[in-house]
Amino acid sequence: MKFNRQYLLIIALVAMVYQLSAQTNFRFSEPKILPILKGQYNPSQYYSGQTNTNKAAIKQTILSQTSSDSLLHFLFGLNQFRNRNSGSDTLSLTNGIGAARNWALAQFDKIKLTNPAFITGFFQFDQAICNMNSHKNVLGILPGTDTAQKGFILIEAHYDSRCENVCDTACEARGMEDNGSGVALVLELARVLSKHTYERTLVFMLTTAEEQGLDGANAFAVFAKTNALPIRAVLNNDVIGGIICGKTASPPGCPGENEIDSLQVRIFSAGTNYSMPKGLARYTKLSFEEELLAQMPVKTNIQIMNAEDRIGRGGDHIPFRQQGYAAIRFTSANEHGDANATAPGYQDRQHSTRDVLGKDVNGDGKLDSLFVSTSYLKRNVQINGITATMLAIGPQAPPEFELINDGNGLSVKISNPVANQAYKIGFRSRANTFDTIFTIVNQSDFKTYHVKKDSFYFVSVAIMDAAGTESLFSAEKYVKVAGVPPTGIIEKDLIKPNMQLLPISPNPVDETLTLSVWMLNPRQGLIGNIVITDLQGRIVQELEIPLDKNINEVVYAHGFSAKGLYHCSFYIAGEKIDTQRLWFK
Ligand SMILES: [Zn+2]
Repeated sequence: MKFNRQYLLIIALVAMVYQLSAQTNFRFSEPKILPILKGQYNPSQYYSGQTNTNKAAIKQTILSQTSSDSLLHFLFGLNQFRNRNSGSDTLSLTNGIGAARNWALAQFDKIKLTNPAFITGFFQFDQAICNMNSHKNVLGILPGTDTAQKGFILIEAHYDSRCENVCDTACEARGMEDNGSGVALVLELARVLSKHTYERTLVFMLTTAEEQGLDGANAFAVFAKTNALPIRAVLNNDVIGGIICGKTASPPGCPGENEIDSLQVRIFSAGTNYSMPKGLARYTKLSFEEELLAQMPVKTNIQIMNAEDRIGRGGDHIPFRQQGYAAIRFTSANEHGDANATAPGYQDRQHSTRDVLGKDVNGDGKLDSLFVSTSYLKRNVQINGITATMLAIGPQAPPEFELINDGNGLSVKISNPVANQAYKIGFRSRANTFDTIFTIVNQSDFKTYHVKKDSFYFVSVAIMDAAGTESLFSAEKYVKVAGVPPTGIIEKDLIKPNMQLLPISPNPVDETLTLSVWMLNPRQGLIGNIVITDLQGRIVQELEIPLDKNINEVVYAHGFSAKGLYHCSFYIAGEKIDTQRLWFK
């Protein structure tokens, strides 16, 4: 439980260091890039004649052209630079971050041979990081065919690497799992998706200086906000190809050292109810399950995690969320280490010279055991690919709607309905994923969703085009379905129908849980308390929760020091209002 405060301190220190080192002089090496990102260009400049987006053809390309061999080729390419620290050599042709980013740009440049519309270049900024004052993200951009369809999709991964010492520029920092895997994914996805055209622009970005404080992503996110760049979604990939669990790997999803899991991938995103990032995470899982999963020979399960990242850790999606964009992070189910490489006895691979591509087991000079699984990585390319495609070709915005609870069930009424138009309605009660999705066609209201008494439902709606591609879902609306009033209890308990803890989800909980309190009559300045106790009644954590909204949230990062059954109680002014059980696995 005490981890919580230590991490807060670390975050505070990082924030202080960060403030000391300003980011300035944002610029692109290629002048065509900024007008494309702003949507201020004429698509005929890039595409002659009629363009046509065909979802079925794109899906077929994603399924058949994504290649493990190509991914391996990219990993070998990155591996040759020995060290990709943000402060490493920029002049050498063979070693250091300069050679690495020129190589990455050359990979994007190759795409121009098959698709001349593809634009490449650097996004540069000045900042003192590890004795280096100028830094570059690498960009590959496929302009959209329709500038009226606002918003671009950003798929990114950091390409810098590190050893135990955050500014060590001499060590062997091959960074194959963290984050050669993400770089290979982005390069492969750019290669595959650029065989088609899309209404909206696709931006593939490899960022620098993630390891020193998410600096490359932050520079671009701040630049985007300042210039009002319409980013529809950010898909960040970091530590995305490993399948072997290290000794210190952050739970959950890592049952024990050397356990292997190639069938799951985690999505981390901020917020819970109504949050744009969680909405994007749900959209990602749904798009994949509806469009691609059935045709994949090996299935992947997408786990939507409660927290924005693993406890005490962060990634490039965070600066984008901070600037108000919907951003999510893809990470392998299993990681080889918790990246705390200076801890005594640390033997895992992340943030060390050991983060290499694989081992030569039989001594013939060739790698015969790879730490990054290219078949697992390939499936993650495909998940990113279908999500980016749906976001790039789907309808612009969800419809407005009304949510009505008539006591027998929930009704959804679409505002200004269009004839023959299909809508998707997503119902969610407690998990981060939808419980149920309904599709309605040529009708403006939907009436048959039966609900349980004394439960909460979160409802959102998407609009669908003729090819069955949905827009992003609307912000969620919620309803509390009343229960039968309790009888024969003492007076103070009668407050419960007016305020209560929402069901805790997931339960057993993962590394961070969001505790939510529903208030019928929220009040400015009213503060409640959430108290976690063990079975002996000992308090293990106390959190304050402002009660100024109908649904109020507080995040509890418990750090895995707890196991077993606990109680979570909600108090106002010392009065216990509600209690729920809490499982820590
Ligand atoms: Zn990383």
